[in-house]
Formats: sequence, C-alpha cells, structure tokens
Amino acid sequence: MSNQDKIIGLDNENIMHTYGRYPVALKSGKGVFAKGADGKEYLDVSSGIGVNSLGYCNDGWVQAVTEQLNTIQHMSNYYYNEKASLLAQQLCNSSGLSRAFFGNSGAEANECAIKVARKYSFDKYGENRNEIITLNNSFHGRTVTTLSATGQDVFHNFFFPFTDGFKYAQPNDFESVKNAVSDKTCAIMIECIQGEGGVNIMNADFVTEIAKLCSEKDILLIVDEVQTGIGRTGKLFAFEHFGIKPDLLTLAKGLGGGLPIGVCLCSEKLKDVMSPSTHGTTFGSNPVVCAGALYVLSVVNNENFLNEVCKKGDYLCEKLLKIEGVKSVRHKGLMVGIELELDNAKEMAAKCTENGLLIITAKNLLRMLPPLNITYEEIDKAVEILKTVVENK
Ligand SMILES: *Cc1c(COP(=O)(O)O)cnc(C)c1O
Repeated sequence: MSNQDKIIGLDNENIMHTYGRYPVALKSGKGVFAKGADGKEYLDVSSGIGVNSLGYCNDGWVQAVTEQLNTIQHMSNYYYNEKASLLAQQLCNSSGLSRAFFGNSGAEANECAIKVARKYSFDKYGENRNEIITLNNSFHGRTVTTLSATGQDVFHNFFFPFTDGFKYAQPNDFESVKNAVSDKTCAIMIECIQGEGGVNIMNADFVTEIAKLCSEKDILLIVDEVQTGIGRTGKLFAFEHFGIKPDLLTLAKGLGGGLPIGVCLCSEKLKDVMSPSTHGTTFGSNPVVCAGALYVLSVVNNENFLNEVCKKGDYLCEKLLKIEGVKSVRHKGLMVGIELELDNAKEMAAKCTENGLLIITAKNLLRMLPPLNITYEEIDKAVEILKTVVENK
C-alpha cells in the first residue's frame, strides 16, 4: 500500500468527515511547490486557501518563526506580549484603525467584530438596537453566530437555534441594503470581494453608498477581509480600492503566512468599547504566530511588492482568457475566479490535481489564490497545466 493510501485510510477511520478532500496527501513544500506523500510534485495555486501568502516554508518566515519558537512559545494574556503589540501597531498604522484583538481564525475575528458592534450600540442606544445586515452569498465563518451572519440558506441548517439578529440584503443593490436598515440596525457587514461566494467583486458605488449610509446613521461598517486582506488583491487591504474606511476590519487567512491567526481591528470611536472580561481567548496573541505575521507584513506591506501582485494578477488573467474553454475571468490582484464554458469546475479541479496543479473551486468557478510571491515563470507553468486539462476535455 502506498504511503498516501495509508494516510487516506487513517483519515477515514479517525477524522470526522467534514471535508470533501482531493485524494492527495501533502508531505512537504517549498515556495509554490508541494510534495505528496509518495514524492509527486504539485504546483499549488491555492496556498492552503490563501493562507501561505509567501508560499511553503519561505526562508525568512521560517527563520522568524523558529527564532521566536526558541525564545518563548506561548504566554497567557495575563501578561504583556511584545510581538503582539508590535503586530497590532503595524496593523493599526497601516489600516488607519486604532485597536486590535487577536484570535485564531477568521470566524473568531468576525465574532469579535459582531460583539464590538453590538456592545457599542448597547452602550449608546440600549438593548434593542442589535441587528446586523449582511449580504446574500457572503461567507463569514462556521461558528453558530457567523453561520447566521453568512447570507446563504445552505448554511442555515441542522444546528438550530441560530443566533438572532441578522438580516440579509442583495450584493450590489443599494436599495436592498437601505430597505433592510431600520432603527434596530447596529452594523452592516460586507466582503468587498466575496471569496467563497464566487469571487464577486462589489461595485465601487455600492460600497461607497453603504459607507455613507453607515456614517449618517451611526451604523458600524464591518469589512470582512479574512480572505481579501494582507495584499491578496494588490492593496494591503481590499477596502483601499474603494476609498472607504471601515469601523471594524477583520483579517485572518494570509496574515500568519501559514500559522493560525485572526484579528479584529476597530476605529478610534470604538477603542474603549471592550473592557476587561468582555472578550478573550487562550491562544490569541501567540508570540510565534505573531512573529510569523510580522514577517509576512515586512514583505507584503511594501508598495513595489503590492504593485507586483497587481501586475502578476493581470498577467495571469490575460493568459487564462486565452485558454479555449475559459468563458470569463474575474480577479482583483491574485484573487482569481475562472468561469468555464462547460460549467464543470469541480471536475476540472480534480483533473488538474491529478495533473500536478493544486487549484480549488468557489461555487461554479475555478479559483486561484496563489502565493503572493509567485514568479511569472511559475504562473506560466500553472496556466500550461490548466490549459492542457481544460482543452483536452
Ligand atoms: C475563510 C473565511 C472566513 C472564515 O475563516 P476561518 O479561519 O475558516 O474561521 C470568514 N470570512 C471570510 C471572508 C473567509 O474567506
């Protein structure tokens, strides 16, 4: 039996079946390449869903993380933590926001944003102004509350009762958002580009009108950048493309470069909303994870690097459009959705995987979230594999 089959067997016998997996076990990786348990090489344009923002085992990142690992691996939040404070300072400075809360995942970052929004409103307006409007087709996480926040009926099953107080509006339809707003609304939560929902890029007018409505009515604007943040779209934060300023900003996936981190940032007017014992988490602010994130920022938060992300995204999409069978491509930076003529993205993703290209899907699209430092040659190589697969079927 191959090593891979052994691992697949072990998984099947011991891990809850919550994931539809490709029949591949990954063992190691370097840069944009991963190696399977039996030595097969893969070019990975999914980066662990946008997590390995500098690819596998980037030298500088490994050094920063191991250095911290050899210094102190964890401390509780009863004590001050230099790495977390430095990371918070950088995130606040670069986003124009004022305070950070560190958790361990995107869902936790969003939970924090929801709690801050509701407490701000409770403190100022009392108990009944607690509704949050989110968009259809959004994705905000898997906890019972963030499932409620997620505007897709398929997620509102089995786990009743879900958290109350969420209303849904149509993306790119400002009237629909306006109609959902009432005296009870405390926040509007959006992704500037819906990732899991299928790389849906919000119109600039839609986003700016929401921001304006929010500031008129003291409704908080929560921008979920768990997927779009940290350079993915060619700006450090996707909201910068829209010229708005969120009251609450959440980040996770790409921030740690491969280690689990989530952060909720809040604006100046919200900086004192949370007080001791209103929120917390044991693992949040882990210094090893923060050291990894500081390294990621030291590379990504750089104008030249971000311009390259834009250029590489454009280069990639231009090439993708030349593949016969590709119907359309949507992208911002290196967040890319590919629509196929035959509408068979799932089948094609599986075929690509067999052919050594790790690519994922979102709804009916193929999706690429390659490492932000992918080279033009590696892009060529990825496109070549995709072309072979798509044009042969
Ligand atoms: C992935 C994702 C989440 C959830 O993040 P987890 O780390 O899986 O909890 C939330 N919002 C968006 C936009 C995401 O893409």
